[in-house]
Amino acid sequence: MISFEQALAAVRQRAGLQPDVMLAADAALGHVLAEDCIATESLPGFDNAAMDGFALSDAHLALPPGTPMALHEVQAAGDARFTLGAAACRIMTGAVVPEGTATVVPVEDATVHTAADGSQTVVLTAPASAGMHIRRAGEDVQAGTRVLPAGTRLQPQHRMLLAALGMSEVRVRAPVLAAVLCTGAELVDDHAALADGQIRNSNGPYLRAALPAMGATVALYRRLPDSAAAYAEAVRTAEQAGCRIILSTGAVSMGVHDFVPDALRALGAEVVFHKLQMRPGKPTLFAVLPSGALLFGLPGNPMSCAVGACFFVQAALRQMQGLAPELPLRAVLQAPVRKKPGWTLIQKATLAVSDDAQLQLRVLAGQESFRIQPFAQANAWAVLPESDAELEVGRVLDCYPLQPALSEWPCGPASA
Ligand code: AMP
Ligand code: MG
Repeated sequence: MISFEQALAAVRQRAGLQPDVMLAADAALGHVLAEDCIATESLPGFDNAAMDGFALSDAHLALPPGTPMALHEVQAAGDARFTLGAAACRIMTGAVVPEGTATVVPVEDATVHTAADGSQTVVLTAPASAGMHIRRAGEDVQAGTRVLPAGTRLQPQHRMLLAALGMSEVRVRAPVLAAVLCTGAELVDDHAALADGQIRNSNGPYLRAALPAMGATVALYRRLPDSAAAYAEAVRTAEQAGCRIILSTGAVSMGVHDFVPDALRALGAEVVFHKLQMRPGKPTLFAVLPSGALLFGLPGNPMSCAVGACFFVQAALRQMQGLAPELPLRAVLQAPVRKKPGWTLIQKATLAVSDDAQLQLRVLAGQESFRIQPFAQANAWAVLPESDAELEVGRVLDCYPLQPALSEWPCGPASA
Protein backbone atom coordinates (compact mmCIF):
# COMPACT_ATOMS: atom_id res chain seq x y z
CA MET A 1 0.00 0.00 0.00
CA ILE A 2 1.31 3.46 -0.83
CA SER A 3 1.44 6.43 1.54
CA PHE A 4 -0.80 9.48 1.46
CA GLU A 5 2.07 11.62 0.09
CA GLN A 6 2.91 9.08 -2.61
CA ALA A 7 -0.73 9.00 -3.65
CA LEU A 8 -0.87 12.80 -3.87
CA ALA A 9 2.32 12.85 -5.94
CA ALA A 10 0.89 10.21 -8.31
CA VAL A 11 -2.26 12.29 -8.83
CA ARG A 12 -0.30 15.48 -9.50
CA GLN A 13 1.97 13.68 -11.92
CA ARG A 14 -0.95 12.57 -14.07
CA ALA A 15 -3.01 15.76 -14.03
CA GLY A 16 -2.20 17.73 -17.20
CA LEU A 17 -2.70 21.44 -17.75
CA GLN A 18 -6.06 22.39 -19.29
CA PRO A 19 -6.03 24.29 -22.60
CA ASP A 20 -6.76 28.02 -22.37
CA VAL A 21 -9.91 29.75 -23.60
CA MET A 22 -11.19 33.32 -23.81
CA LEU A 23 -14.25 33.79 -21.60
CA ALA A 24 -16.46 36.75 -20.86
CA ALA A 25 -15.35 38.20 -17.53
CA ASP A 26 -18.56 37.13 -15.79
CA ALA A 27 -18.23 33.55 -17.03
CA ALA A 28 -14.57 33.49 -16.01
CA LEU A 29 -15.34 33.99 -12.31
CA GLY A 30 -13.95 31.09 -10.30
CA HIS A 31 -11.60 30.12 -13.11
CA VAL A 32 -7.85 30.67 -13.27
CA LEU A 33 -6.10 33.23 -15.49
CA ALA A 34 -3.98 31.56 -18.15
CA GLU A 35 -2.07 34.77 -18.87
CA ASP A 36 -1.27 38.05 -17.17
CA CYS A 37 -3.95 40.73 -17.49
CA ILE A 38 -2.38 43.91 -18.86
CA ALA A 39 -4.37 47.13 -18.45
CA THR A 40 -5.19 48.89 -21.71
CA GLU A 41 -6.63 51.91 -19.87
CA SER A 42 -5.48 53.93 -16.86
CA LEU A 43 -7.36 54.27 -13.60
CA PRO A 44 -8.51 56.91 -12.93
CA GLY A 45 -8.82 57.69 -16.62
CA PHE A 46 -8.59 61.47 -15.95
CA ASP A 47 -7.79 63.87 -13.11
CA ASN A 48 -10.97 64.15 -11.04
CA ALA A 49 -12.26 65.61 -7.80
CA ALA A 50 -11.94 63.48 -4.66
CA MET A 51 -14.45 65.66 -2.72
CA ASP A 52 -17.53 67.76 -3.33
CA GLY A 53 -16.15 71.29 -3.27
CA PHE A 54 -14.72 74.08 -5.39
CA ALA A 55 -12.16 73.98 -8.19
CA LEU A 56 -9.70 76.86 -7.92
CA SER A 57 -6.92 78.06 -10.22
CA ASP A 58 -3.40 79.24 -9.31
CA ALA A 59 -4.72 82.80 -9.59
CA HIS A 60 -7.33 82.07 -6.90
CA LEU A 61 -4.69 80.58 -4.62
CA ALA A 62 -2.58 83.74 -4.99
CA LEU A 63 -5.40 85.94 -3.58
CA PRO A 64 -5.12 87.17 0.03
CA PRO A 65 -7.01 84.94 2.52
CA GLY A 66 -10.70 85.83 2.82
CA THR A 67 -11.04 87.29 -0.69
CA PRO A 68 -14.47 86.49 -2.17
CA MET A 69 -14.16 84.68 -5.51
CA ALA A 70 -16.84 84.67 -8.16
CA LEU A 71 -18.54 81.28 -8.58
CA HIS A 72 -19.99 80.39 -11.98
CA GLU A 73 -20.03 76.87 -13.31
CA VAL A 74 -21.03 73.54 -11.75
CA GLN A 75 -18.91 70.54 -12.77
CA ALA A 76 -20.68 67.25 -11.99
CA ALA A 77 -19.50 63.65 -12.47
CA GLY A 78 -20.03 62.77 -16.12
CA ASP A 79 -19.70 66.37 -17.41
CA ALA A 80 -17.11 67.02 -20.13
CA ARG A 81 -13.99 69.03 -19.33
CA PHE A 82 -13.96 72.86 -19.77
CA THR A 83 -11.37 75.51 -19.00
CA LEU A 84 -11.54 77.30 -15.68
CA GLY A 85 -11.71 81.08 -16.19
CA ALA A 86 -11.59 83.90 -13.70
CA ALA A 87 -14.42 82.38 -11.68
CA ALA A 88 -14.18 79.42 -9.30
CA CYS A 89 -16.39 76.42 -10.07
CA ARG A 90 -18.45 74.10 -7.92
CA ILE A 91 -17.22 70.55 -8.46
CA MET A 92 -18.67 67.18 -7.42
CA THR A 93 -16.80 64.01 -6.44
CA GLY A 94 -15.69 62.11 -9.54
CA ALA A 95 -16.10 65.09 -11.90
CA VAL A 96 -13.24 65.73 -14.33
CA VAL A 97 -11.30 68.74 -13.04
CA PRO A 98 -11.53 71.71 -15.44
CA GLU A 99 -8.37 72.73 -17.35
CA GLY A 100 -6.45 75.17 -15.18
CA THR A 101 -7.58 73.68 -11.85
CA ALA A 102 -4.83 73.98 -9.23
CA THR A 103 -6.71 72.54 -6.29
CA VAL A 104 -10.07 71.36 -4.98
CA VAL A 105 -11.30 72.86 -1.72
CA PRO A 106 -13.91 70.78 0.13
CA VAL A 107 -17.39 72.23 0.74
CA GLU A 108 -16.63 72.13 4.48
CA ASP A 109 -13.70 74.58 4.06
CA ALA A 110 -15.60 77.41 2.30
CA THR A 111 -18.78 79.44 2.51
CA VAL A 112 -20.92 80.60 -0.38
CA HIS A 113 -22.58 84.01 -0.43
CA THR A 114 -25.51 84.74 -2.74
CA ALA A 115 -26.06 88.40 -3.70
CA ALA A 116 -29.49 90.03 -4.29
CA ASP A 117 -29.03 89.57 -8.07
CA GLY A 118 -28.46 85.83 -7.55
CA SER A 119 -24.73 85.94 -8.30
CA GLN A 120 -22.56 83.87 -5.99
CA THR A 121 -19.13 84.16 -4.41
CA VAL A 122 -17.14 81.71 -2.39
CA VAL A 123 -14.79 82.50 0.51
CA LEU A 124 -12.30 80.02 1.91
CA THR A 125 -12.55 79.33 5.66
CA ALA A 126 -9.39 77.21 5.84
CA PRO A 127 -5.98 77.55 4.18
CA ALA A 128 -5.70 75.97 0.71
CA SER A 129 -2.67 74.85 -1.25
CA ALA A 130 -2.07 73.45 -4.72
CA GLY A 131 -2.93 69.84 -5.57
CA MET A 132 -5.44 69.08 -2.83
CA HIS A 133 -8.27 66.53 -3.29
CA ILE A 134 -7.50 65.64 -6.89
CA ARG A 135 -7.26 61.98 -7.91
CA ARG A 136 -4.66 61.93 -10.67
CA ALA A 137 -5.05 59.96 -13.91
CA GLY A 138 -3.26 56.62 -13.60
CA GLU A 139 -2.73 56.96 -9.84
CA ASP A 140 -4.38 53.56 -9.26
CA VAL A 141 -3.45 51.75 -12.50
CA GLN A 142 -1.17 52.90 -15.33
CA ALA A 143 -2.17 51.66 -18.80
CA GLY A 144 0.26 48.96 -19.93
CA THR A 145 0.95 47.55 -16.48
CA ARG A 146 0.16 44.03 -15.26
CA VAL A 147 -2.86 44.18 -13.01
CA LEU A 148 -3.46 40.45 -12.39
CA PRO A 149 -0.86 37.70 -12.81
CA ALA A 150 -1.49 34.40 -14.59
CA GLY A 151 -2.57 31.82 -12.03
CA THR A 152 -5.08 34.10 -10.27
CA ARG A 153 -8.42 32.43 -9.54
CA LEU A 154 -10.89 35.15 -10.42
CA GLN A 155 -12.88 36.38 -7.43
CA PRO A 156 -15.36 39.25 -7.09
CA GLN A 157 -12.57 41.72 -6.19
CA HIS A 158 -10.85 40.91 -9.49
CA ARG A 159 -14.15 41.29 -11.32
CA MET A 160 -14.38 44.87 -10.00
CA LEU A 161 -10.92 45.70 -11.36
CA LEU A 162 -11.59 44.11 -14.77
CA ALA A 163 -14.87 46.03 -15.05
CA ALA A 164 -13.22 49.32 -14.08
CA LEU A 165 -10.59 48.78 -16.78
CA GLY A 166 -13.08 47.75 -19.49
CA MET A 167 -11.59 44.25 -19.74
CA SER A 168 -14.69 42.31 -20.73
CA GLU A 169 -12.90 39.09 -21.72
CA VAL A 170 -10.01 37.22 -20.17
CA ARG A 171 -7.97 34.15 -21.07
CA VAL A 172 -8.42 31.40 -18.49
CA ARG A 173 -7.75 27.69 -18.13
CA ALA A 174 -10.72 25.92 -19.69
CA PRO A 175 -13.26 24.94 -17.06
CA VAL A 176 -12.82 21.28 -16.14
CA LEU A 177 -15.93 19.21 -16.84
CA ALA A 178 -16.57 16.61 -14.16
CA ALA A 179 -18.89 13.64 -13.73
CA VAL A 180 -20.29 12.37 -10.42
CA LEU A 181 -21.45 8.73 -10.39
CA CYS A 182 -22.89 7.36 -7.14
CA THR A 183 -23.05 3.57 -6.92
CA GLY A 184 -25.17 1.67 -4.42
CA ALA A 185 -28.46 -0.23 -4.53
CA GLU A 186 -29.24 1.25 -1.08
CA LEU A 187 -29.23 4.87 -2.28
CA VAL A 188 -32.27 7.05 -2.79
CA ASP A 189 -32.43 10.81 -3.41
CA ASP A 190 -32.93 13.11 -0.46
CA HIS A 191 -36.58 13.93 -1.23
CA ALA A 192 -37.68 10.28 -1.59
CA ALA A 193 -39.27 8.09 1.10
CA LEU A 194 -36.94 5.43 2.56
CA ALA A 195 -37.75 1.72 2.33
CA ASP A 196 -36.17 -0.65 4.83
CA GLY A 197 -32.40 -0.80 4.40
CA GLN A 198 -32.24 2.25 2.16
CA ILE A 199 -30.23 5.42 2.86
CA ARG A 200 -30.19 8.80 1.22
CA ASN A 201 -27.45 9.68 -1.20
CA SER A 202 -25.41 12.31 0.63
CA ASN A 203 -22.14 11.94 -1.28
CA GLY A 204 -23.63 13.01 -4.60
CA PRO A 205 -25.05 16.32 -3.38
CA TYR A 206 -21.85 16.96 -1.41
CA LEU A 207 -19.65 16.49 -4.48
CA ARG A 208 -21.99 18.57 -6.60
CA ALA A 209 -21.64 21.36 -4.03
CA ALA A 210 -17.88 21.01 -3.51
CA LEU A 211 -16.67 20.68 -7.10
CA PRO A 212 -17.60 24.14 -8.42
CA ALA A 213 -15.58 25.77 -5.63
CA MET A 214 -12.57 23.77 -6.86
CA GLY A 215 -13.08 25.09 -10.39
CA ALA A 216 -14.91 22.10 -11.90
CA THR A 217 -18.27 22.09 -13.63
CA VAL A 218 -20.44 19.04 -12.99
CA ALA A 219 -21.57 18.01 -16.47
CA LEU A 220 -22.95 14.55 -15.60
CA TYR A 221 -24.55 13.39 -12.36
CA ARG A 222 -25.95 9.87 -11.96
CA ARG A 223 -27.05 7.46 -9.27
CA LEU A 224 -26.21 3.90 -10.37
CA PRO A 225 -27.22 0.40 -9.29
CA ASP A 226 -24.52 -2.04 -8.11
CA SER A 227 -23.74 -3.19 -11.64
CA ALA A 228 -20.39 -3.21 -13.39
CA ALA A 229 -22.14 -2.88 -16.76
CA ALA A 230 -24.11 0.21 -15.67
CA TYR A 231 -20.90 1.66 -14.20
CA ALA A 232 -18.91 1.09 -17.40
CA GLU A 233 -21.70 2.61 -19.50
CA ALA A 234 -21.82 5.72 -17.25
CA VAL A 235 -18.02 6.14 -17.39
CA ARG A 236 -18.14 5.95 -21.19
CA THR A 237 -20.96 8.50 -21.29
CA ALA A 238 -18.92 10.84 -19.08
CA GLU A 239 -15.90 10.56 -21.38
CA GLN A 240 -18.06 11.21 -24.42
CA ALA A 241 -19.46 14.31 -22.70
CA GLY A 242 -15.90 15.64 -22.42
CA CYS A 243 -15.47 15.04 -18.70
CA ARG A 244 -11.78 15.15 -17.74
CA ILE A 245 -12.48 14.24 -14.12
CA ILE A 246 -14.81 11.39 -13.20
CA LEU A 247 -15.70 10.78 -9.57
CA SER A 248 -17.48 7.63 -8.52
CA THR A 249 -18.53 6.81 -4.99
CA GLY A 250 -18.75 3.34 -3.48
CA ALA A 251 -17.85 -0.14 -4.69
CA VAL A 252 -14.07 0.10 -4.20
CA SER A 253 -13.76 -1.90 -0.97
CA MET A 254 -13.82 -5.64 -0.27
CA GLY A 255 -17.57 -6.34 -0.56
CA VAL A 256 -19.18 -8.67 -3.09
CA HIS A 257 -20.50 -5.64 -5.02
CA ASP A 258 -17.17 -3.80 -5.15
CA PHE A 259 -16.78 -4.04 -8.89
CA VAL A 260 -15.07 -0.71 -9.69
CA PRO A 261 -11.44 -1.90 -10.08
CA ASP A 262 -12.38 -4.74 -12.46
CA ALA A 263 -14.82 -2.61 -14.43
CA LEU A 264 -12.12 0.01 -14.97
CA ARG A 265 -9.53 -2.52 -16.09
CA ALA A 266 -12.10 -3.91 -18.54
CA LEU A 267 -12.41 -0.36 -19.92
CA GLY A 268 -8.64 -0.28 -20.50
CA ALA A 269 -7.91 2.09 -17.62
CA GLU A 270 -4.57 2.21 -15.84
CA VAL A 271 -5.27 1.79 -12.13
CA VAL A 272 -2.53 3.99 -10.65
CA PHE A 273 -3.33 3.16 -7.04
CA HIS A 274 -5.99 1.35 -5.09
CA LYS A 275 -5.80 1.45 -1.29
CA LEU A 276 -3.43 3.65 0.66
CA GLN A 277 -2.15 4.12 4.23
CA MET A 278 -4.70 6.82 4.99
CA ARG A 279 -7.86 7.04 7.09
CA PRO A 280 -10.57 7.70 6.30
CA GLY A 281 -10.39 6.66 2.67
CA LYS A 282 -8.12 3.61 2.74
CA PRO A 283 -9.85 1.97 -0.30
CA THR A 284 -9.52 5.09 -2.51
CA LEU A 285 -8.73 4.28 -6.11
CA PHE A 286 -7.16 6.47 -8.79
CA ALA A 287 -7.09 5.51 -12.46
CA VAL A 288 -6.38 7.07 -15.84
CA LEU A 289 -8.83 6.16 -18.61
CA PRO A 290 -7.75 5.63 -22.22
CA SER A 291 -9.17 9.09 -23.06
CA GLY A 292 -6.80 10.61 -20.49
CA ALA A 293 -9.69 11.41 -18.14
CA LEU A 294 -8.81 10.96 -14.47
CA LEU A 295 -11.06 8.66 -12.49
CA PHE A 296 -11.30 8.86 -8.71
CA GLY A 297 -12.96 5.83 -7.17
CA LEU A 298 -13.98 7.32 -3.84
CA PRO A 299 -15.23 4.98 -1.12
CA GLY A 300 -18.90 5.25 -0.19
CA ASN A 301 -18.43 6.22 3.43
CA PRO A 302 -19.18 9.94 3.49
CA MET A 303 -15.94 11.05 5.18
CA SER A 304 -13.84 8.85 2.89
CA CYS A 305 -15.60 10.46 -0.04
CA ALA A 306 -15.03 13.98 1.34
CA VAL A 307 -11.33 13.38 2.08
CA GLY A 308 -10.83 11.98 -1.42
CA ALA A 309 -12.48 15.05 -2.94
CA CYS A 310 -10.71 17.62 -0.75
CA PHE A 311 -7.24 16.15 -1.13
CA PHE A 312 -6.90 14.07 -4.32
CA VAL A 313 -9.55 15.58 -6.58
CA GLN A 314 -8.61 19.07 -5.44
CA ALA A 315 -4.89 18.36 -6.07
CA ALA A 316 -5.68 17.22 -9.62
CA LEU A 317 -7.93 20.19 -10.31
CA ARG A 318 -5.35 22.68 -9.06
CA GLN A 319 -2.71 21.13 -11.29
CA MET A 320 -5.07 21.13 -14.29
CA GLN A 321 -5.82 24.81 -13.72
CA GLY A 322 -2.18 25.78 -13.38
CA LEU A 323 -2.34 26.44 -9.64
CA ALA A 324 0.45 25.48 -7.27
CA PRO A 325 -0.39 22.84 -4.66
CA GLU A 326 -2.48 24.20 -1.82
CA LEU A 327 -0.34 25.38 1.10
CA PRO A 328 -1.50 24.23 4.50
CA LEU A 329 -2.15 26.54 7.40
CA ARG A 330 0.00 25.67 10.43
CA ALA A 331 -1.97 25.43 13.67
CA VAL A 332 -1.24 24.55 17.29
CA LEU A 333 -2.91 21.46 18.75
CA GLN A 334 -5.02 22.23 21.86
CA ALA A 335 -5.63 18.68 23.19
CA PRO A 336 -3.50 15.54 22.83
CA VAL A 337 -4.34 12.96 20.15
CA ARG A 338 -3.31 9.30 19.97
CA LYS A 339 -3.16 7.36 16.73
CA LYS A 340 -1.83 4.18 15.21
CA PRO A 341 1.55 4.82 13.60
CA GLY A 342 1.85 3.89 9.94
CA TRP A 343 -1.32 5.69 8.91
CA THR A 344 -1.94 9.27 7.86
CA LEU A 345 -5.16 10.42 9.54
CA ILE A 346 -7.20 13.20 8.01
CA GLN A 347 -9.35 14.52 10.83
CA LYS A 348 -12.38 16.76 11.08
CA ALA A 349 -11.19 19.79 13.07
CA THR A 350 -11.88 23.36 14.08
CA LEU A 351 -9.47 26.24 13.68
CA ALA A 352 -9.79 29.36 15.81
CA VAL A 353 -7.61 32.41 16.30
CA SER A 354 -6.63 33.14 19.92
CA ASP A 355 -6.43 36.65 21.41
CA ASP A 356 -2.66 36.59 20.86
CA ALA A 357 -3.16 35.76 17.16
CA GLN A 358 -2.26 32.08 17.40
CA LEU A 359 -4.04 29.67 15.08
CA GLN A 360 -5.44 26.98 17.37
CA LEU A 361 -6.50 23.51 16.30
CA ARG A 362 -8.96 21.13 17.91
CA VAL A 363 -9.59 17.67 16.51
CA LEU A 364 -13.31 16.94 16.84
CA ALA A 365 -14.84 13.90 18.52
CA GLY A 366 -16.52 11.39 16.19
CA GLN A 367 -13.91 10.72 13.51
CA GLU A 368 -15.53 7.52 12.19
CA SER A 369 -15.96 7.70 8.45
CA PHE A 370 -19.76 7.34 8.57
CA ARG A 371 -20.23 10.40 10.83
CA ILE A 372 -21.45 13.46 8.97
CA GLN A 373 -22.56 15.63 11.91
CA PRO A 374 -19.01 16.54 13.09
CA PHE A 375 -18.07 17.38 9.49
CA ALA A 376 -20.81 20.01 9.53
CA GLN A 377 -19.27 21.43 12.74
CA ALA A 378 -15.72 21.44 11.35
CA ASN A 379 -14.03 24.27 9.47
CA ALA A 380 -10.83 22.43 8.54
CA TRP A 381 -9.08 19.12 8.01
CA ALA A 382 -6.11 18.37 10.23
CA VAL A 383 -3.43 16.06 8.85
CA LEU A 384 -1.94 13.73 11.50
CA PRO A 385 1.36 12.47 10.05
CA GLU A 386 1.87 8.80 9.24
CA SER A 387 4.82 8.17 11.57
CA ASP A 388 3.30 9.69 14.73
CA ALA A 389 1.60 7.81 17.56
CA GLU A 390 1.06 10.52 20.16
CA LEU A 391 0.56 14.14 19.33
CA GLU A 392 0.97 16.43 22.34
CA VAL A 393 -0.59 19.79 23.13
CA GLY A 394 1.42 22.51 21.40
CA ARG A 395 2.28 20.36 18.41
CA VAL A 396 2.08 22.33 15.15
CA LEU A 397 0.13 20.52 12.42
CA ASP A 398 -0.81 21.11 8.81
CA CYS A 399 -4.46 22.06 8.38
CA TYR A 400 -6.59 22.73 5.33
CA PRO A 401 -9.59 25.05 5.73
CA LEU A 402 -12.83 23.70 4.32
CA GLN A 403 -13.63 27.12 2.85
CA PRO A 404 -11.88 27.16 -0.51
CA ALA A 405 -11.29 30.92 -0.52
CA LEU A 406 -8.95 30.50 2.43
CA SER A 407 -6.84 28.09 0.46
CA GLU A 408 -5.87 30.98 -1.85
CA TRP A 409 -4.36 32.88 1.06
CA PRO A 410 -0.63 33.15 0.88
CA CYS A 411 0.70 31.14 3.82
CA GLY A 412 4.13 30.41 5.14
CA PRO A 413 6.07 27.40 3.86
CA ALA A 414 4.82 24.03 5.05
CA SER A 415 8.11 22.98 6.66
CA ALA A 416 7.74 21.50 10.16
P1 AMP B 1 -19.25 1.14 -0.24
O1 AMP B 1 -17.99 1.93 -0.38
O2 AMP B 1 -20.06 1.10 -1.48
O3 AMP B 1 -18.97 -0.20 0.34
O4 AMP B 1 -20.12 1.94 0.84
C1 AMP B 1 -19.60 2.14 2.13
C2 AMP B 1 -20.65 2.78 3.02
O5 AMP B 1 -20.99 4.05 2.50
C3 AMP B 1 -21.94 2.03 3.11
O6 AMP B 1 -22.44 2.18 4.42
C4 AMP B 1 -22.83 2.70 2.10
O7 AMP B 1 -24.19 2.55 2.37
C5 AMP B 1 -22.38 4.14 2.27
N1 AMP B 1 -22.60 4.90 1.05
C6 AMP B 1 -22.28 4.52 -0.20
N2 AMP B 1 -22.59 5.44 -1.09
C7 AMP B 1 -23.11 6.47 -0.39
C8 AMP B 1 -23.64 7.74 -0.76
N3 AMP B 1 -23.65 8.14 -2.04
N4 AMP B 1 -24.10 8.55 0.21
C9 AMP B 1 -24.07 8.13 1.51
N5 AMP B 1 -23.57 6.99 1.91
C10 AMP B 1 -23.12 6.13 0.98
MG1 MG C 1 -21.67 0.09 -2.18
